[in-house]
Amino acid sequence: MPRTVHIIGAGLAGLSAALKLSARGERVIVHEATAFVGGRCRSYHDATLGMTIDNGNHLLLSGNHAALDYLRDIGAADRLIGPQAAEFSFADAATGQRWTLRINDGRLPWWIFDPARRLPGTRALDYAPLARLLWAPPSKTVGETIQCKGLLYQSLVEPLLLAALNIDPPHGSAKLASAVIRQTIAAGGRACRPLVAREGLGSTLIEPALETLKGRGAIVRLEHQLRALRFGADRVEALDFGKETIVSTADDAVILAVPPYAASSLVRGLEVPTEFRAIVNAHFRIEPPPNAPPILGVLNGAVQWIFSFPGRVSITISAGDELVDSHREELAQKTWSDVSRVTGLPPALPPWQIVRERRATFAATPAQDARRPGAKTQWRNLVLAGDWTNTGLPATIEGAIRSGNRAAALLAR
Ligand SMILES: Cc1cc2nc3c(=O)[nH]c(=O)nc-3n(C[C@H](O)[C@H](O)[C@H](O)COP(=O)(O)OP(=O)(O)OC[C@H]3O[C@@H](n4cnc5c(N)ncnc54)[C@H](O)[C@@H]3O)c2cc1C
Repeated sequence: MPRTVHIIGAGLAGLSAALKLSARGERVIVHEATAFVGGRCRSYHDATLGMTIDNGNHLLLSGNHAALDYLRDIGAADRLIGPQAAEFSFADAATGQRWTLRINDGRLPWWIFDPARRLPGTRALDYAPLARLLWAPPSKTVGETIQCKGLLYQSLVEPLLLAALNIDPPHGSAKLASAVIRQTIAAGGRACRPLVAREGLGSTLIEPALETLKGRGAIVRLEHQLRALRFGADRVEALDFGKETIVSTADDAVILAVPPYAASSLVRGLEVPTEFRAIVNAHFRIEPPPNAPPILGVLNGAVQWIFSFPGRVSITISAGDELVDSHREELAQKTWSDVSRVTGLPPALPPWQIVRERRATFAATPAQDARRPGAKTQWRNLVLAGDWTNTGLPATIEGAIRSGNRAAALLAR
């Protein structure tokens, strides 16, 4: 009888582990607590807008190699769209000024020396202190490492780190900021092309993965929440799903790919991140202006990024904890007024929806980062996965997929 690998949680970490294992011919069962697959990265039909929307706008970069490999594996790499080069358009909501950052392809950052490519009003020398982030000790915050003020910080470093770390950057971990910079800007423009799932997260990252898993014989059980794990001396002996208990043979294995608060309630003594930051998205049913960039950074407004999709304009506010309990209609009005100002779309509020993810990511502080466990546990058949495990990256699609790949690799025999 071949062994079974039980994967708990059908977010991207669980799905990527399932894809790797099923590709090796392993028997895989994915158990998901909710009625849908994708976890924090999913699409759903929104009745108010009468259209399918994403729980939140997700940006990938061309240097997210694990994510791109995952997409190639499920035959969906062509569903991401983005410019041919690493270009980031910005607009200042207060002054109306617009500019585009153009990072050159190679590793040598000559874009910094070219006034037509770098941030207007900055000099090449202004960028030098950023190098300090690359070698900061793990205990340091961004605020303890670089000066968090001035034009370069406010117009470039702050928006990029806020998006990547989902935390007010001065409080963010310099080590995680460094990991982001190393794998993007420091790796050259070829690693920084912004990519978005134009037709939605579901049809790009989730449904093709389910199809592929089905084709490889993997089983996905929805509304099948793991309630408890029964531990023996050195292994998990049974999985308790409430109405059903699955006894695991000596060969079977478990990948726990649930969020940290769920993992710590299932595994005694497990230290996990305990603080989180929210992300707020507003979706507006309206055709974006012709030639609108797929994503536009906004400074000096309530919104931080504007995403343009067919028939829909969506905005993102990272580290949006203060807005989580705010009045929905006021939030829609306020964010739309920014969108209207910078895009020239009419000021009248179009049909809208607000989606607030309270625990969008763990708080990327040095203290919370230090609480992230590795994938291995003291039980020989239990492995952890998830964007919150110690991937060396902030909580991102890339981190989640790498964690799933690593969990699958640890179970290789
Ligand atoms: C609004 C928003 C915007 C984001 N933007 C970006 C972005 O632009 N770029 C980027 O790279 N990343 C972004 N992220 C982060 C990215 O979505 C996550 O890092 C990634 O989806 C995490 O995947 P995961 O599998 O680790 O966890 P999850 O997606 O949380 O998956 C865990 C799964 O486990 C299930 N589960 C929980 N308990 C149990 C149980 N007991 N039994 C069975 N199943 C259980 C859950 O229901 C869930 O499906 C964003 C996140 C949000 C919320």
